[in-house]
Amino acid sequence: MMSYAITERCIGCGRCETECPTGAIETIAPKLYHIDTQRCHNCSSYSNAQCVAVCPVEEACTPLLHDYWDFWFARYRRLKHRLKHRSSAAYWDRWFGLFGKTVTRIARERTTESITS
Ligand code: SF4
Ligand code: SF4
Repeated sequence: MMSYAITERCIGCGRCETECPTGAIETIAPKLYHIDTQRCHNCSSYSNAQCVAVCPVEEACTPLLHDYWDFWFARYRRLKHRLKHRSSAAYWDRWFGLFGKTVTRIARERTTESITS
């Protein structure tokens, strides 16, 4: 299973340690944290990783590099599932339809302008 890791960007604030639902984040020295890959389940029951959500530093908690594509596909599947099963799916279908039409109209207008000028 995919796991997260704490990188050298960590400033040691400790927020992630208290938020982790599986207790996977351990203190190994003052202000030095480590994620136990056996206990990290990548917050699969949440919409995002809780350690990342509370971390004040960009990329201090990241998916382990060899898990990157697993992470990418897991997120893709999660979003797809949510879009399919939410009542807002119809709204987004309409939104994308309208967006597509607008882009096509603008492209057509630009083409006409460049031909006539
Ligand atoms: S991804 Fe979730 S389970 Fe894994 S270390 Fe972060 S908070 Fe804990
Ligand atoms: S929340 Fe981010 S900066 Fe704070 S200890 Fe965890 S990884 Fe480090």
